[in-house]
Amino acid sequence: MKKTFMPSFASLQELENEQLRGLKWTVNHACQESAFYRKQLEDAGIHPGDIRSLDDIRRLPFTRADDLRAGYPFPLLSVPITDVVRIHASSGTTGKQKVLCYTQKDIDDWIHMFARCYEMAGLTSGDRVQIAVGYGIWTAGAGFQLGCEKFGALAVPVGPGNIDLQCRFLVDLKSTVMCCTASMALLMAEEVERRGLKDKIALKKIIFGSERSSAAMRARIKTLLNLEDMFDITGMTELYGPGTGIDCERHEGIHYWADHYILEILDPETLQPVADGETGEMVVTTLKKEAAPLIRYRTRDLTRKITTPCSCGNILPMHDRILGRTDDMIIFRAVNIYPGQIDEILSSIPDIGSEYQVILDAGDDGRDYMTIRVEDGKDGVTDRRAAADRIAREVKNRIMVSCKVEMVDYAGLPRSERKSKRIYDNRDR
Ligand code: ZN
Repeated sequence: MKKTFMPSFASLQELENEQLRGLKWTVNHACQESAFYRKQLEDAGIHPGDIRSLDDIRRLPFTRADDLRAGYPFPLLSVPITDVVRIHASSGTTGKQKVLCYTQKDIDDWIHMFARCYEMAGLTSGDRVQIAVGYGIWTAGAGFQLGCEKFGALAVPVGPGNIDLQCRFLVDLKSTVMCCTASMALLMAEEVERRGLKDKIALKKIIFGSERSSAAMRARIKTLLNLEDMFDITGMTELYGPGTGIDCERHEGIHYWADHYILEILDPETLQPVADGETGEMVVTTLKKEAAPLIRYRTRDLTRKITTPCSCGNILPMHDRILGRTDDMIIFRAVNIYPGQIDEILSSIPDIGSEYQVILDAGDDGRDYMTIRVEDGKDGVTDRRAAADRIAREVKNRIMVSCKVEMVDYAGLPRSERKSKRIYDNRDR
């Protein structure tokens, strides 16, 4: 029989049974072994025995990024420190880093999940996987490499940057898969074109991690490298690391490993579940994690659940791509709007540029007004008025708000090497 890393269950009922078992185990384990969780649960008036169904998850208190920082250097620790075999840290931009502890079982579970990602992306033991992500204290390098070895493909652990070496290995080792960020993939694609290497490499697939990429960017990478396919892998240090979900060859959403964690999508303001398929904050609860379990951890990442099963037939549920962060959310006429939603709409319209600004103003009539400034594409649209009308119509249809659209010249909006400022909120509040 073919080796597989997919779960053994065949029905959603079995998945739910496994989730309930894991939820009960996690709450009990955290309450017994972690002073932090014990206090959290006590303050919420919850006893582990109160968890009798999956719906009871909604009675549990939330865990936040601040709780991890407050617990530095070993936050949420729920095993004796002598049982911890490794730590990883997140690349936090402000204040203390989030350090996460792993037992050997946690590492084994993570690597199994990662091997499942390679299986989902259709790799075989014949693949050669060039790993161009950060190594060391970050989770990326270790996850991509150990997962690759566990899966049985050949790992080429180059690390990030080093374009000359990346190109040489693509040619000499005939790597068939590359793992990197979307920005790095674009850089490689342009370099391969500039050096005329397209016919000398054997690259078929790219697995992207950690960074949102637009449809236009992905299309360019695919063409330049003559790829068969590209996959979006998800994950965060708090939840093991990358490798907790990936899209399959049908690209109908990101399959996530619901046998290892429960995903709730909540309204970030009210903390109540959003309607099926609506966008909200990802909140995760682990089911098997020993050293640093997560109970209703608020990730601040925004996505929505995909409510129809994947046509590939795999039973593992799906969520959409990450659409942004709750910090970037704007509330306009009582509608929650995320920059990712505007990105998506603009990506679907031909010949316009990828740069845009959203300007919010308070009108004299007491209502809020939105203007979206969009750059023309390099070759430009033939009719700016028609393009502006179409964008306004799509925004109305898909986000349900009215806006004014102004088209500006190509390269007319400021560029930034770092994250571009796109939202300008001039409303007085
Ligand atoms: Zn699928």
